[in-house]
Amino acid sequence: MSTLSSAVTAPFDVEKLREDFPVLKQTIHGKPLVYLDSAATAQKPHAVIDAIRRFHEVDCANIHRGVHELSQRSTAAYEEARIKAKRFLNSRYTDELIFVRGTTEAVNLVSSSWGRKNVKSGDEIIVSAMEHHSNIVPWQMLCEETGAALRVIPMNEHGELLMEEYAKLLNPRTRMVAVTHVSNALGTINPVAEIIRMAHAAGALALIDGAQAAPHIKVDVQALDADFYAFSGHKVVGPTGIGILYGKLALLNSMPPYQGGGDMIKSVTFEKTIYNDLPYKFEAGTPNIAGGIGLGAALDYVMRVGVDQIAAHEHALLVYGTEALSQIPGLRLIGTAREKASVLSFVIEGLHPHDIGTVLDQMGIAVRTGHHCAQPVMDFFKVAATTRASLAFYNTFAEIDALATGIRKTKEVLT
Ligand code: PMP
Repeated sequence: MSTLSSAVTAPFDVEKLREDFPVLKQTIHGKPLVYLDSAATAQKPHAVIDAIRRFHEVDCANIHRGVHELSQRSTAAYEEARIKAKRFLNSRYTDELIFVRGTTEAVNLVSSSWGRKNVKSGDEIIVSAMEHHSNIVPWQMLCEETGAALRVIPMNEHGELLMEEYAKLLNPRTRMVAVTHVSNALGTINPVAEIIRMAHAAGALALIDGAQAAPHIKVDVQALDADFYAFSGHKVVGPTGIGILYGKLALLNSMPPYQGGGDMIKSVTFEKTIYNDLPYKFEAGTPNIAGGIGLGAALDYVMRVGVDQIAAHEHALLVYGTEALSQIPGLRLIGTAREKASVLSFVIEGLHPHDIGTVLDQMGIAVRTGHHCAQPVMDFFKVAATTRASLAFYNTFAEIDALATGIRKTKEVLT
């Protein structure tokens, strides 16, 4: 069975890589599938599918509690995945990596555990105008509970954050700056190293939502000096229901547990419970073992293909796609930041994005339409929704051509 049939070939051999992704080999409505919805979820290579299957077929047992062979095997595979996440993010310690359900749970964990302990009335939390709802709502909930205030870094018409406005928002009351590394609705790559540096200078912490950054651009949490960094496995060619929260060791150690239950304790009596050490303190209950192992296989896969190679290929696709779509009359790209990842969000005068998506689907082209869980972004650009083509390293220039042709045909069909 192929694991990485194309292993790190130079130049980037996308056709060979595609062979690792069984889902891509199908036709939809009689047309070859053109999958351009990887920002919603990425497709999975054989390496991931096989790892999950192997766990269920050969190693299936609960982790951490068993002396028997299967439990030891499953524990080893699960903990190995944590070590892979450490390598992927270049964190200093393995204990800094917490398995969570995904980015959403990671943000909720921090806003609940760190937030309730450290945020009080009159404090301020800063987010940006381009956040996914997952990095807005948990902070709003914390603000409602504590009486803290939410502040928002504005952006310009290209979808770039206004750093001078950010500087003005920072003050001694700022406790946390929670910003996305890459915008899912616009593709903007934010200057997170600078954002973090400025937060620290103001005495605040910084949480980075990395859902759209991994695996598209290299992430190094130590170089960034991020206090917290979150990403979802399913956007990194791994399974759904698993993700990673990175947190600096001292911070995680200082935080109370997020949920109570099995595995997060050292001892329990009715009088007193002693919590477990990191990372288990934050991992109550039987976790998504198969998901963790699948995520480990996904990170291995991505690291072997090479994040830098992925970024270069996707950037070339983005440049090509931007040019192709810009030539379509009436099409307006939403999100034209200078630093941009592989997202092509657009509206077409007089056409509803939902109709565009439906007609494209008839041609086998999968795009996403809607507000992309970023309603404030839609409000800013005064659109109800966009059509979004989001690219991954398994996409080809021919698929961009198919998209451009498809959009032109869609216009004919709908007008
Ligand atoms: N943040 C961003 C920027 C995202 O794109 C997403 C997923 N669309 C999330 C957070 C939430 O991720 P998940 O649903 O996997 O928790």
